[in-house]
Amino acid sequence: MISEKLQQAINEQITAELWSANLYLSMSFYYAHAGLDGFASWMKKQSQEELDHAYDMAGYLIKRGGKALVDKIDVVPCDWGSPLEAFEQVYAHECRVSKLIDGLVDVASAERDKATQDFLWGYVREQVEEEATAQGIVDKMKLGGDAGLLLVDAELAKR
Ligand code: MG
Repeated sequence: MISEKLQQAINEQITAELWSANLYLSMSFYYAHAGLDGFASWMKKQSQEELDHAYDMAGYLIKRGGKALVDKIDVVPCDWGSPLEAFEQVYAHECRVSKLIDGLVDVASAERDKATQDFLWGYVREQVEEEATAQGIVDKMKLGGDAGLLLVDAELAKR
């Protein structure tokens, strides 16, 4: 059975994952409005992935005898200065999420819960990919400038 403290920490992370899902959905709408359908489609998939994280964490909590909660989700931004600025925010956000996951591992470690540490290592590894992917797309956008935006858009449509 999972400890009360760890249950609360994971529930907070579920709230953060749901907030992330809303952030990327909002970005999807922003890009669609700008005529960048590839970016919009990529963001929609990213949003779904964050929802899947919330489901996965809730499933884990329940399996360990805990109670998963759907808490209040704060409002997300709906506008960004430019397509590049929005993606820079993706990178910044994923770096913040990495820190949240690291903090969760610390709680699991303090609670001496090996199974939860093992469960969370998957997320620690995934965050390395999330940061690298976002950084890679930001780099391509900077290299291509406005003229290269449609090329990146076509590439992101393939996700
Ligand atoms: Mg996530």
